[in-house]
Order: sequence, then C-alpha cells, then structure tokens
Amino acid sequence: MATCYLGIGSNLGNRRKNIKLAVKKVGALKDTCIIKESSVFETLPVGGPAGQPNYFNSVLKIQTKVPPLILLKKLKRIEKELGRGPSLRFGPRTIDLDILLYADKVIKNKKLTIPHPRMFLRDFVIKPLKEVL
Ligand code: AMP
Repeated sequence: MATCYLGIGSNLGNRRKNIKLAVKKVGALKDTCIIKESSVFETLPVGGPAGQPNYFNSVLKIQTKVPPLILLKKLKRIEKELGRGPSLRFGPRTIDLDILLYADKVIKNKKLTIPHPRMFLRDFVIKPLKEVL
C-alpha cells in the first residue's frame, strides 16, 4: 500500500457537494481507502480568467495499491462523472482532482508530475494538507 495525498478543488455549481461526491467516489475505488480528510477551505482563484468564482479546496490522505498513472486515469474518470467538461487552463471547474504526493515517488513524464508542480507551494494546498499530514 502507498500513502498518497490528493488535492480536490471545485469552483462551479454546488462546490461543497461536488467535493463530497468526489471524496465518496475516491473512497469507492478498488484497493484504496481514505485515511484522513481535511476541512474544506474557501480560497481565491489563482490565475485563469478574471471574475471566476472562489474555490472550495480540500486534501485527502489515502492508502492505495493502484499505481500512479492508473490512479490518475481513475481520477480523471471521476472528474468526468461529476460533469467536468473540457476547461480553460486555470479556468472554472466542477471538480479538479490532483495527485499531490505518492509515497516517496518522484515522477516526471508527459502525463504526470509528482510532487505536483503548480500547486504544491500554494496556500490552497498547503493549508488543507497540513491538517492531514
Ligand atoms: P488539470 O487541468 O489540473 O486537471 O490538469 C490536467 C493535466 O495535468 C492532466 O491531464 C494530467 O495529465 C496532468 N498532471 C500532471 N501531473 C499531475 C498530477 N500530479 N495530478 C493530476 N494531474 C496531473
């Protein structure tokens, strides 16, 4: 089992509900269990088009046997199931699921960079991450 941290964000629709549903779906993944769930923080959008709504963000600590690239695929499927269509880079989204850390792995390829590059040092990740570390 690998310990892994997932970032969750939503700034469209019922943001708190979107996060709740995403957590439920992550918890239902095969060979995966949720260890801790952070509070939900409301944060200002970073970058992207002007005037987009604030985000709700949280972080999950999970244990999983699912390898990183397959986990990414499964997270993308959950994003689709929750109604996320194609979106602008840093634009508004129903749900965004990111792999922040995966055990002590360092990965850099076309599809996946771990530790997560853009968000790792940002407040909206660090605050909830601190709660579940
Ligand atoms: P986003 O718009 O934030 O959902 O990110 C889109 C793309 O980022 C995905 O299609 C992934 O291939 C790529 N990506 C790179 N590193 C990561 C990561 N650690 N977690 C999630 N997505 C990642």
